[in-house]
Amino acid sequence: MKNKCLFLDRDGIINIPLVKKNKPFAPTKISQFRLYKNLNKTLNYIKKFNYLIIIITNQPELSRGNLDEKTLDKMHDIIFSTLPIDDIFICKCQESSSCNCYKPKPKMLYDAKMKHNIDFKKSYFVGDTHRDIYCASNAGCYSILLKKRYNYEMISKADYVIENFGQIKKILKK
Ligand SMILES: [Mg+2]
Repeated sequence: MKNKCLFLDRDGIINIPLVKKNKPFAPTKISQFRLYKNLNKTLNYIKKFNYLIIIITNQPELSRGNLDEKTLDKMHDIIFSTLPIDDIFICKCQESSSCNCYKPKPKMLYDAKMKHNIDFKKSYFVGDTHRDIYCASNAGCYSILLKKRYNYEMISKADYVIENFGQIKKILKK
């Protein structure tokens, strides 16, 4: 049997993004990297229903030279040691590149599907920007928008909209 999965965007869902001019940005220093509180409670609850939990993240600051791999690894060590996350897929390219992985392109989801035997039809993707919502629909899994002051334009585009992360418990099928 194939696995169901909860895909999560990283910046704005797992950790607090830097917000400049009403747009979210990834932290580039460990001192800026802060996880949201109370994620554990919700994710451990979801785990009881046998969902894989996988982070899917664009990190274009790597190829811009603003973020180094060691710092990114440290951030992800913090995530793995704090939260029940099964895997993290990273696109290190820039939006303008001809890669297949930069969200909303769905390659990272397909890579996760191959590696972890995932059924998209039973899977959900929680994100805070258009890239996440369109990535989910490009792959054929359900999209969940976590409402923020910078993403009102996406409310009508997502399959589900939540006001806080804990509300995913009501959406995911048991
Ligand atoms: Mg985000």
